[in-house]
Amino acid sequence: MKSTASVIFQERKDQIVRKGRDAFDMSCNRESLAGAVSQRACVFCGSRVVLYPIADALHLVHGPIGCAAYTWDIRGALSSGPDLHRLSFSTDLQERDIIFGGEEKLYRALSELIERHGPKAAFVYSTCIVGIIGDDLEAVCRKVASERGIPVLPVQSEGFKGNKREGYGAACKAMFRLMGSGDTSTISPISLNILGDFNLAGEIWIIREYFDRMGIQTVANITGDGRVADLQRAHGATLNVVQCSGATMELAKMMKDSFGTPFLRVSYFGVEDMAESLYRIAAFFEPKAPGIVERTRELVKGELSELYPRLQEFRRELSGKKAAIYVGGAFKAFSLVKAFRLLGMQVVLVGSQTGTEEDYKELYEITDEGTIIVDDSNPLELSSFLKEKDVDVFVGGVKERPIAYKLGVGFCDHNHERKQPLEGFVGMLNFAREIHSSVMSPVWRFVPRRKARETWNE
Ligand code: SF4
Repeated sequence: MKSTASVIFQERKDQIVRKGRDAFDMSCNRESLAGAVSQRACVFCGSRVVLYPIADALHLVHGPIGCAAYTWDIRGALSSGPDLHRLSFSTDLQERDIIFGGEEKLYRALSELIERHGPKAAFVYSTCIVGIIGDDLEAVCRKVASERGIPVLPVQSEGFKGNKREGYGAACKAMFRLMGSGDTSTISPISLNILGDFNLAGEIWIIREYFDRMGIQTVANITGDGRVADLQRAHGATLNVVQCSGATMELAKMMKDSFGTPFLRVSYFGVEDMAESLYRIAAFFEPKAPGIVERTRELVKGELSELYPRLQEFRRELSGKKAAIYVGGAFKAFSLVKAFRLLGMQVVLVGSQTGTEEDYKELYEITDEGTIIVDDSNPLELSSFLKEKDVDVFVGGVKERPIAYKLGVGFCDHNHERKQPLEGFVGMLNFAREIHSSVMSPVWRFVPRRKARETWNE
């Protein structure tokens, strides 16, 4: 078996830090190394992740059918009403379209789909090949918008022009074009927009309920369970609360520059970050809504009094177990490190696809000695770290799952495929329960994991 050092490319060594051995000096936020088989997704995927939970909009992928593989099935954002977002549409570009151009086909597809489904807006995603042949998306969208009387928005998300992070930016630019046109007269001064939550397994409903109990009006969900009309009046909210380091931060900055809407960064994962986020939001509104901090304190106290005794039961058996984390955005990693600590577990590996230097510095500060911190990793590196650190559970997404299972390591899906909510106080309980059942599962008795480890380092 190869040693960890031998699977790390020379060009990637400065994207890996071992706390305690290396001083913090990490290179990140750069193009993936060609041939390293990065876990990252393309620009188009980034924009699709952010936009497609807008449930009453039409989402049309302009490109070959393969790009449209990013469907609702692998990104299960729930809607409390319309569910047009669950349908996947593609212009299915063929050789002939590539040679003679795909604008006509796009025009026909858009017109037919709008006629058939009556969406409140349409998003048209550009893919690699469209960027190469140079179809004028903007012109086609403008024409269809004026004919059909709804916003038709081009998303400039050609897959090759960067990584997932650029896709977030393309999505934010498209959404921003909707803002500023809706009626804001019924919006309370104690109001906010939720940015960067995609309503996986109904999570945004949990968070909205906390805001309701605090006395805060939620104007727009951006984008889980999202609606076009809400986006159009989102500029009337007093505050933006932004979860997820990259996905909607650009939108929050654009809204601050154009409408003066301040924003707070929040996280709804884990007990500490969930409570801290609610307190910071309450403190923001306290001058205008005296008593909101006290109300929030009561809310948190009530939730914790139920949660803590149950967490202690899991902690008894999980203490001393080891966890590895590899996620898309680093914000989730911060909350997960703290959540595992609460369960008595040690995080021995943590990494992300799109973290910034600031993110990794924070991870370096909050993790224990010996923890490996990695940016833009690949399956070979991740497998080798998991084996070296002898982890009990690996937290990641769809692309990390097979790595864990092939090694006989427990896995927890903390990405868009999951079917149970992990946000909020109830989400922490679900998370603890899932980690406990994965780590303590009797199945590991039948997997030759421990035995294999004896030979891993040979
Ligand atoms: S946009 Fe390009 S990189 Fe992305 S899925 Fe399509 S072909 Fe692949």
